[in-house]
Amino acid sequence: MTVATPGLVCAHHHLYSSLARGMPAPPRTPAGFIDILELVWWRLDRALDLETIEWSAKLGALEALERGSTAIIDHHESPNAIEGSLSVIADACEEVGVRVSCAYGVTDRHGPDGAAAGLAENDRFLADGANEGYVGIHAAFTCSDETLAAAAELARKHNVGVHVHVAEGANDDWQRLADYTDDDWLLIHGVHLPDDHGLRGTFVHSPRSNMNNSVGYARPARFENPVALGTDGIGADMLEEFRLAYVAARAADVTTTPDLAWQWLSTGWDLMPAALNDQVVWAAESDDPWALAFTTGTSPLEVCVDGETVWEDGLPTLVDGDEIRAKAAEAAQKMFAKLQEIEP
Ligand SMILES: [Zn+2]
Repeated sequence: MTVATPGLVCAHHHLYSSLARGMPAPPRTPAGFIDILELVWWRLDRALDLETIEWSAKLGALEALERGSTAIIDHHESPNAIEGSLSVIADACEEVGVRVSCAYGVTDRHGPDGAAAGLAENDRFLADGANEGYVGIHAAFTCSDETLAAAAELARKHNVGVHVHVAEGANDDWQRLADYTDDDWLLIHGVHLPDDHGLRGTFVHSPRSNMNNSVGYARPARFENPVALGTDGIGADMLEEFRLAYVAARAADVTTTPDLAWQWLSTGWDLMPAALNDQVVWAAESDDPWALAFTTGTSPLEVCVDGETVWEDGLPTLVDGDEIRAKAAEAAQKMFAKLQEIEP
């Protein structure tokens, strides 16, 4: 039995984290969310160069196709390799056959020059016009007022939204975004927001990441805003994220149905409508959300993007998957060696 769906959309990814699996353990065990940022991710992003970004993006795109995801909304940070980084990601995804929307996560963690370079990379990429994108902000709590205002203004200039982490941890002063948000903004997580937050935009819920970081449950069913699903960098298996979103919602409220989680997954097509031109043929008995929520491990048999077959018989058609995995593994070793030198 097979069923067909459009290409699935991962509405929040960090392709740069594809090489993070197997990374050396942090210098001490993180005790909370900020520790996880400081000891793991903010060391990893400093170890990235354009070569590791390229192989990380290719591996992430390959693994997306493997799970029937043909479109990725990526949020990138590489403080020691900012200029050109978004184009490296866009080119890598194009080579594999995956649609991507890019954003550079602007932050003041690396001083005003770092913030300016991040804004410039968003500006350069969006002005190029070859690919979809947002202006990225890491999060309000790592940005000055000037940087937040500049990012919002840059988004208006390019007529795009802003892609930003919001209230993932309890410490985020997300209120500083309130004057700027608009319907085309992508608001990631929203775990610690009150119900009457007043922010405009689409929330992206990443249940696996939220559990992994022990930040709490976002209770996305309470938001009046549209809700989409993303992985926050832990692969791009969107049927799996749909199942997790369902069961996490169910854990909080037993009257929840899989239709709600499917609606969240479907919001991805409002964000990247081009994925509706893609087709995934799944080895599954039914495309009813109730059936899919309980059919674990469903795999695509064939993936077509704009009518072109990009995945079939367990292999990509445009690229050599084994070569990508081998080169990505080499790049990961190089990055792990560099990481050992980076202090938190
Ligand atoms: Zn994220």
